[in-house]
Amino acid sequence: MTKKVKHVLGLSGGKDSSALALYVKETRPELDVEYFFTDTGYELPETNAFIDQLEEKLGYIHRLNDRSLNNMEGRGERTFSNLLKEHGNYLPSQRDRWCTVQMKLKPFEKWVDGFIAEGYVIKNYVGIRADEPNRSGFMTIEKPIKSIFPFREDGIVKSDIENILQRNGLELPEYYQWRSRSGCTFCFYQQKIEWLKLMEKHPDLFEEAKTFEKGEGNTTVGEKFYWMGQGQPLETLEDPSVQQRITENHEKRVARFKKKKRRNALLTDTEGFCEFGDLDEIYDEAEGGGACVTCYK
Ligand code: SF4
Repeated sequence: MTKKVKHVLGLSGGKDSSALALYVKETRPELDVEYFFTDTGYELPETNAFIDQLEEKLGYIHRLNDRSLNNMEGRGERTFSNLLKEHGNYLPSQRDRWCTVQMKLKPFEKWVDGFIAEGYVIKNYVGIRADEPNRSGFMTIEKPIKSIFPFREDGIVKSDIENILQRNGLELPEYYQWRSRSGCTFCFYQQKIEWLKLMEKHPDLFEEAKTFEKGEGNTTVGEKFYWMGQGQPLETLEDPSVQQRITENHEKRVARFKKKKRRNALLTDTEGFCEFGDLDEIYDEAEGGGACVTCYK
């Protein structure tokens, strides 16, 4: 007997998953795809606005962690404060990424469980491109879910992504003007320059991130752990001399990166350069900086 198949595609608010959804719709119109966005409740306003724009192009997008379950804060029962308490007030970090499990993977798991109970096999479409190495940051769950990689199958690379968005009448999400990826406002994968930009663009969200650093018992090996690492609370970024140092260091890196690009491509300009879209390369990080594709793709 042929098994029933449910095709699902997760949108993070990042450019690759968005382009993937549009691309699959164009190239595999026979598929009935269900789109979902796992809204942690701590997304940037720019990300939510972009998801709304995408919905106009794609059709209905399931919001997992639906805001219709709102409490006073508009974030459902599983607020970050509650989760933080459950985790002994230890902030998540690159070494212990409990946030992705709790805020992204579990709601997804709960959603697909309904389909699995109805006898569906799940095919999950993922936006890893043909020019990316095998990713260690790809977190999976123990379920009958098959991952499908259309960009890899079809040889789609980074330079194709913007074209796919543009031919569908979409620009890059607005946050790319000052931040390299979607994900939580307080994501610890941010560079310091991005924290500075968060403080400038969304001072209220920066303040909120600061409050999470103050949880009782938030320590590692005797020293307090903060979003930017040990001994570096966010409030250090409020010092103008620190801001100047970070900005100058960033500008130097950007200049070095542009020079390298020009040299390698033998170009007189830096066509295709996007300061925050290219941030990982500017900071010599692997794409995504180690973040899970679930959060930023
Ligand atoms: S975006 Fe960052 S903080 Fe949010 S769940 Fe993902 S890794 Fe955690």
